Amino acid sequence: MSDIVFYDTRTRSKQPFAPLEPDCVRMYTCGPTVYGPQHIGNLRSQLFPDLLRRFLEREGFAVRHVVNITDVGHLTDDADDGDDKMEMAAARAGRSAEEIAAHWTEHWRQNREAVNCRPPDVLCKATEHIPEQIELARTLEKGGHTYRLPDGIYFDVSTFPRYAELAHLDLEGQAGGHRIDEVAGKRHPADFALWKFAAEGVKRQQEWDSPWGRGFPGWHLECTAMSSRYLGETFDIHTGGIDLATVHHTNEVAQAECATGVHPWVQFWMHNEFLDFQGVKMSKSLGNVLTLDDLVAGGLPPLAFRYFFLQAHYRQQQTFTDEAIQAAATGHRRLCAAAAPLRDAKGVPDPERVAPYRDRFRAALCDDLNAPRALAVAWEVVRAEELTPADRYALIEDFDTVLGLDLLAEPEATPVETDPRIDALVAAREEARARKDFAEADRLRDQLAAEGIAVEDTPNGPRWRRT
Ligand SMILES: [Zn+2]
Repeated sequence: MSDIVFYDTRTRSKQPFAPLEPDCVRMYTCGPTVYGPQHIGNLRSQLFPDLLRRFLEREGFAVRHVVNITDVGHLTDDADDGDDKMEMAAARAGRSAEEIAAHWTEHWRQNREAVNCRPPDVLCKATEHIPEQIELARTLEKGGHTYRLPDGIYFDVSTFPRYAELAHLDLEGQAGGHRIDEVAGKRHPADFALWKFAAEGVKRQQEWDSPWGRGFPGWHLECTAMSSRYLGETFDIHTGGIDLATVHHTNEVAQAECATGVHPWVQFWMHNEFLDFQGVKMSKSLGNVLTLDDLVAGGLPPLAFRYFFLQAHYRQQQTFTDEAIQAAATGHRRLCAAAAPLRDAKGVPDPERVAPYRDRFRAALCDDLNAPRALAVAWEVVRAEELTPADRYALIEDFDTVLGLDLLAEPEATPVETDPRIDALVAAREEARARKDFAEADRLRDQLAAEGIAVEDTPNGPRWRRT
C-alpha cells in the first residue's frame, strides 16, 4: 500500500494514492478561458498541479498531464445564459476570436513558464475538438439524458442519480429555489446546456454544424470530451480551483459517467483553494485584476510568487497582501543566497546524514502535498551545521526538483564592465522617463546609441551593454 495520501473532494477524505496503471499517473487540469489576462489567483490553480506533478515524478511515476484551453462556449454568467466571453472580447478589441485566443493563450503560457510550471504533455483547445464534443453529446442523447429547448440541447440531471455526489449538493433545495436569469423551460435548475444554438439573426464568429443545428458546445462538454480522448475512460487525478467543483466538475462527472457507465470516472478530485485578496473579489469587470506582469512591473521576480504559493497548503485559503508577497520575495532571495555557495561544494554526500532530511521532505509531501512543511525542511538543510556542503548540495538539488525555485541557479550575469559616466547617462534617462520627459529620454537614448550602448529594461531596472 502506498504511503502517499491525497485529499479527495468526492469522498471528503484523505485516501492512499496508487495510479490505476502501474508507474503512470494520468491527470487533467482545467485551464484558462483565454479572453483576457489570468490573475494571480488563476495562477495558483496552475502552480498546484505543477507541484503535484513534480512530486509524482520525483516518486518515479511517469506523469501524463493534460490541460485544456477554453476558447469557446464560456458564457458570462458561468451557466447557460449571458454572452460568450470570447466573442465579447473579440468584438471589444475589433479582432477575431481566434486572434484573441492565440494572444492570451501565449500570455498564459509565458506566465506559467515564468513561475517554472512544467509544460503539459497535451495542451488541447476546445475549438479543435468539436467533433469529439458532438459525439459525446450524441451518446448522451442516445442514452436518454438530454432534452431540447429553443436555445439548445440540455442535460437532464434527474437521469443521473449520483449528480449531487462530488460537491455534496442539495438538489432538492435547488429545485425549490429559482434564479431570475434561469433559462426558461429547464426541468431542474441544475440542468445544463450540452449544445447551444446560435441566436436567430446573430452571426457568431465561432459556430459549427451539429445534428441539432448550428451552434457551439457548452463549456462543460469540452473537458469531458478532451480528457477522455487523451486519458481514457477513467483516469487518476482531476485538478482545478475549488470554485469549479459545484457546477463545472459536477457536470463533467455527469457527462462522463452517463456516457460510459464507469464509476468513479476520476479516482482523485483535487481542488485548490482561492487566493484571498482581503475579502475583495478580483474580477475583470471590476478592473481590479492583479497579474504576474503587475508583480514583475513592481520589481518582483516571478519566482517570488511561486515561493509565496509554497508557503500555504493548497487546500488553505491564502491571503495575498503587499507585505506577504514582499516577505515571500525576501524569503526566496535569502534561501537562494544560502544555497548559492553550495554550487562549489566538493566531495560526496553522506547517505546516512542526508537520509533523515530526505525522509522528512518526502513525508511532508506524501501527506497531501504539504508544501509549507517541505519548504521548512529546505530551510533546515541550509542551516544544519551537522551537514557538509556536499550533503546540503545534494539535498537542495533534490528538493528543488519539486519546489521549482531555481535555488542553485547561477545568479543573473552582472555586466563585467562598469563605467560611471554611462551609468549616469542611463540613470538620467530613467529619471527623464519617470517625469514623463520623453523627448529628453529619447535624446539620451540616442546619445547612448551613438556611443554603441544598448539599454535594456529588466524587472530589476535598466541594464546596458556595448553593441
Ligand atoms: Zn474543465
